[in-house]
Amino acid sequence: MSKPASLRSLEHHDAFVSRHIGPNDAEVAHMLRVVGHESLDAMTDAIVPGSIRSGTALDLPPPMSEVDALAKIRGIAKRNTVFRSFIGQGYYGTHVPNVILRNILENPAWYTAYTPYQAEISQGRMEALINFQTMLVDLTGMEIASASLLDEATAAAEAMTLAKRSAKSKSNVFFVSKNVHPQTLEVLRTRADGLGIELQVGDDADAATVDSYGVLMQYPDTFGRIHDYRAVAGAVHARGGVVAVAADLLALTLIAAPGEWGADIVVGNTQRFGVPFGFGGPHAGYMACRDAFKRQMPGRLIGVSVDAEGNPAYRLTLQTREQHIRREKATSNICTAQVLLAVMAGMYAVYHGPEGLARIARRVHRFTAILADALRKAGASVGGDFFDTLHVTGVDAAAVHARAREARINLRHFDDGAIGISLDETTTREDVAALAALFGGSIDDIDALDATTPDALPAGLPRGTPFLTHPVFNTHHSEHELLRYMRALADKDLAMDRTMIPLGSCTMKLNATAEMIPITWPEFSQIHPLAPADQTEGYVELIDGLEAMLAEITGYDAVSFQPNSGAQGEFAGLLAIRAWHRSRGEGHRDVCLIPESAHGTNPASAQMAGMTVVVTRCDANGNVDVEDIRLKAEKYGDRLAAIMITYPSTHGVFEEDVVEICEIVHAHGGQVYTDGANMNALVGVAKPGTWGSDVSHLNLHKTFCIPHGGGGPGVGPCAVKSHLAPFLPSAVPATGDEAGDAPRVGMVSAATYGSASILPISWMYITLMGAEGLRRATQVALLNANYIARRLEPHYPTLYTGRNGLVAHECILDLRPLKDATGIGAEDVAKRLIDFGFHAPTLSFPVSGTLMVEPTESESLHELDRFIDAMIQIREEIRAVEDGRLDREDNPLKHAPHTAAQASASEWSHAYPRELAVFPLPSLRQQKYWPPVARVDNVHGDKNVFCSCIPIGSAEDEPEAFSEPDVV
Ligand SMILES: *Cc1c(COP(=O)(O)O)cnc(C)c1O
Repeated sequence: MSKPASLRSLEHHDAFVSRHIGPNDAEVAHMLRVVGHESLDAMTDAIVPGSIRSGTALDLPPPMSEVDALAKIRGIAKRNTVFRSFIGQGYYGTHVPNVILRNILENPAWYTAYTPYQAEISQGRMEALINFQTMLVDLTGMEIASASLLDEATAAAEAMTLAKRSAKSKSNVFFVSKNVHPQTLEVLRTRADGLGIELQVGDDADAATVDSYGVLMQYPDTFGRIHDYRAVAGAVHARGGVVAVAADLLALTLIAAPGEWGADIVVGNTQRFGVPFGFGGPHAGYMACRDAFKRQMPGRLIGVSVDAEGNPAYRLTLQTREQHIRREKATSNICTAQVLLAVMAGMYAVYHGPEGLARIARRVHRFTAILADALRKAGASVGGDFFDTLHVTGVDAAAVHARAREARINLRHFDDGAIGISLDETTTREDVAALAALFGGSIDDIDALDATTPDALPAGLPRGTPFLTHPVFNTHHSEHELLRYMRALADKDLAMDRTMIPLGSCTMKLNATAEMIPITWPEFSQIHPLAPADQTEGYVELIDGLEAMLAEITGYDAVSFQPNSGAQGEFAGLLAIRAWHRSRGEGHRDVCLIPESAHGTNPASAQMAGMTVVVTRCDANGNVDVEDIRLKAEKYGDRLAAIMITYPSTHGVFEEDVVEICEIVHAHGGQVYTDGANMNALVGVAKPGTWGSDVSHLNLHKTFCIPHGGGGPGVGPCAVKSHLAPFLPSAVPATGDEAGDAPRVGMVSAATYGSASILPISWMYITLMGAEGLRRATQVALLNANYIARRLEPHYPTLYTGRNGLVAHECILDLRPLKDATGIGAEDVAKRLIDFGFHAPTLSFPVSGTLMVEPTESESLHELDRFIDAMIQIREEIRAVEDGRLDREDNPLKHAPHTAAQASASEWSHAYPRELAVFPLPSLRQQKYWPPVARVDNVHGDKNVFCSCIPIGSAEDEPEAFSEPDVV
């Protein structure tokens, strides 16, 4: 008998590492031969400069199996305690419809999709988002809404700046009612400080009289009261100011829409539309406003255009507002937003429809009115004019809270002894009775009370306009119908469950199922962000553990998880730098050097942090120009605040001079901000915190496996060296009165830990991979990129390479010479890839006319070869154009992508065969993706901005509601 295999070698195959990393050992060996290196280590040494390479392995535990890692995180989750929450303050209980939970939140067809820049393969999620926009327009009574902001507090901050850009008034004061949620006030303070806006906080009544360019109120306010703001709105308008209001969507089904009483901008949170608490997020914030403001709006906007056949098609509209083009003059730095959550909230409205929503709202209100009555009878003092929230005074608060604890109930605590109670969709009769009992009241016969208790909504503010009248909100109310509607939308889109998404800079890697599983456990999803600390010990253990792991990986000392996107992390990091300078008496330092190759969010964030952006050059090899940096660092001298560099650079190379750059900037008193979006090329190989960088944001939705969700959620933790740690964002204040002049940095988003409920994903990834798995992932990411660059070299030259002719984890394919020769450009190749079933690489970033390919470590050799075959076939087609075998205009590239309708039409008028159009490779006959629309017309969409559901009946021709052309 032969010797049995060792236990250790058998166990190795349980490891997650080999599931996460695409190529197996034999394939890695083959690819190394193509790239010309002996081993992964030899290749790594040839790519990564010795001056930054880590000498030692990461100090993290060894890889774990899925079973063991899930058991471990289950133990952590159990340390959280789920109480019934009536805390409110912007977060309310909700039932996630199970059909949405499973088929959207837990469905990779939705959660692994990318931001819909490639319109033709994103029609499904854009329809879902246009439903979301339409829902907002209807409920708020405004004219246009965007496809999600990050949360209510940052949405309020965006309203503050949108108002500034739009108001006629020249005042520099933004007036905020002291009755907005405390976290909103905190974030406004942080943002106003960066921008030099003067914030004045006061009573609602003062909004009418204080000279300001804009005002923000809350409707209903944080105490639950509903005010009539008509007079205030009139007064603000009379002085050329803008009226913004944070509004609760469920309440708006019963009370007058802000658009009915003069609001110009409405913001808020859509959390209570079927998205769980999640200890603070992620949830989709929202903004709706007047049509006149649309070119000034922040964030992404889905619009309707037409395709090459004249059929309606969705696309991202007015992108010229965004940072990718406008950079420091952009309307905001929002890049990754909250798309998956916006899709869920929009579907919740589709699921319930207008009557369903109003019914939920009415039930919540009835319960609240009955509870108020019972509390008054028990001797408590409760105001009137409320929807779902009671502000209770005249009670022994300590005793009530103590009884609440006994009953496993959380109430809102006010410093002055008042108690807040917010009811919601999940409130039951038993809850109402239990709540009354906490105050010594009793509800014996709730139906009898119901019959005698009047509503407590303000009489003068009834909802006067219909909402959700479009058929989409009135058809899919049976589960089968909704299931099929969601499936039909998902089938229109390409996500990672069907193909690699080789987007440079975006790191679209595997989002493993085991990583996703914990996020829907009640111990993570059902925790209110303001739950008492002794109920959130599991979260704290998870977050502390993740902080320690990320600190070890990056070489930094402290991490804030508050920023809910990479761009928000940039903002937080720059605020930390600024506060540090101030703390040293150097508050005058305001210049931020940014290389011209930087991602657009960098200059946009620097501007928000009150810095002046100075652009530095890149040389012919794509490297940042060290001499230019030296020159500008000297020139600005004691004005130098920081440099923002991306490493490895957005040009896909490890620059040799990064240590020297850090030294130059430090010598002139500046700080080094390293954009960590490219961390997937560094983990386990090199640490920014040890080569001289002071601060980075990480994109957990890139390197650390949080799925992209079709454009969000994301988490952009801000990691800093110890000297900056005191200047990380603060925690949520209990009451909102504590902002002072201390050199602290306020909150950058609404919840202390931002989008806490998706942190388990990154925790699971790191735990599953362990030190060696993480390092191997980085090395295979480098190998995969170099394999593609090498194999495509004869067909498409790689624009920039670093040491030894190698790239980092991505490569830029230069198509500009082909464009000059044939008229075929990078965009045509991107669209042609759709006919092959691929999502295009990053188009025209960071260099116009190029494609940037980032395969990541989780793509197998098979998938890489499939992509390479497609790219080579496309190159053959371009060659055919060069040789005159294909027409310069009428060729499959210029007309890509091709729809099933075009291919099967009785008439085919093109100069190339149908077969070439739709089956350019034989393998496509086995598996074929059919785009639902032909190439989408970008210009038409920007000239005819229309951002709501397409009216039924106009599907044949242009939507009738198109407004007249605007000048772009
Ligand atoms: C993705 C990215 C960002 C922005 O991150 P978001 O999470 O989308 O805000 C910034 N810089 C670079 C280089 C990026 O690739």
